[in-house]
Amino acid sequence: MSLFYIFYQEGIFLGEKLILDGKKVSNHVRESLKPRIAALKEKGIQPCLATILVGDDPASATYVRMKGNACERLGMESRRIHLPEETTTEELLKVIEDLNHDDAVHGILLQHPVPGHIDERKAFEAIDIEKDVDGVTSWGYGQTALGFGQYPACTPAAIMKIMEFYGINPEGKHAVVVGRSPILGRPVSALLLNANATVTTCHSYTRNLPEILRMADIVVAAVGKPRFIKGEWLKEGVVVLDAGYNPGNIGDADYESCYEKASAITPVPGGVGPVTISMLLKHTVDAAEKKLRERQ
Ligand code: NAP
Repeated sequence: MSLFYIFYQEGIFLGEKLILDGKKVSNHVRESLKPRIAALKEKGIQPCLATILVGDDPASATYVRMKGNACERLGMESRRIHLPEETTTEELLKVIEDLNHDDAVHGILLQHPVPGHIDERKAFEAIDIEKDVDGVTSWGYGQTALGFGQYPACTPAAIMKIMEFYGINPEGKHAVVVGRSPILGRPVSALLLNANATVTTCHSYTRNLPEILRMADIVVAAVGKPRFIKGEWLKEGVVVLDAGYNPGNIGDADYESCYEKASAITPVPGGVGPVTISMLLKHTVDAAEKKLRERQ
């Protein structure tokens, strides 16, 4: 048990400062997957993640490539589907439907955002709940919110995993989440609530954000604006989990000023991002194991 854990659990902040190292957490998760993947392979199953990229957005292409490469490095299969920009919603739905029926595919990831003319929500909803390893369906979100979701959205899952790894227990703490998007702010609020935190979810209509943040023991930055959360809004000893990823490798929290106040903080890059990909791999392995159990 780390000193940090003891100090934080007792609610006493004694000046320990912890950089929450996402690469370390990510390596830990990936190492734990290796024997599970080997065991599946012995039974003739190679966990397979299908990624769908629509269009040529360079950032999305990079994210999808990183996810596919991470799969392959662990000995998983990466099925990479790249559709042209002009793909229609109906055409995309057909691709998803085929993947739903493909027994060799265990997880489906539709890279967000898709081109504006596509009904993204309809496409997300078409993903089979058993293959929704990125937690994008409303069914998956509902299960997560009720506390029995099998595959919560990956960035929220990564935030919870980082806290677990470093022994930061949200129970009884006031967690303030800035952002309420379906893939990030809302599900991480639900996961924190399920972990017995008292949760305040803020958004663009929230009044007096600095006042609310000053009451936070844990802050999740999920606002999509570079350096938005300022250290002077935070109380001494706060834990800052920055999910933000803006051009130039900049988070949604102003790292320098938040670092001054925080007892623990995720850097950007090297914080939440790498763990997000590892949670996607973990969910895909979970799905492959579930499939095997059902077959036996
Ligand atoms: P999003 O869909 O744009 O949502 C942003 C949220 O912030 C919205 O709920 C919005 O409120 C809220 N907001 C905007 N301005 C605000 C303000 N002035 N005060 C309080 N709240 C405000 O963004 P997202 O997809 O959730 O992404 C958020 C960040 O996480 C981005 O930096 C993104 O790059 C990053 N991200 C990282 C990962 C990863 O793997 N690390 C994955 C996904 C996203 P309304 O709902 O009222 O509009």
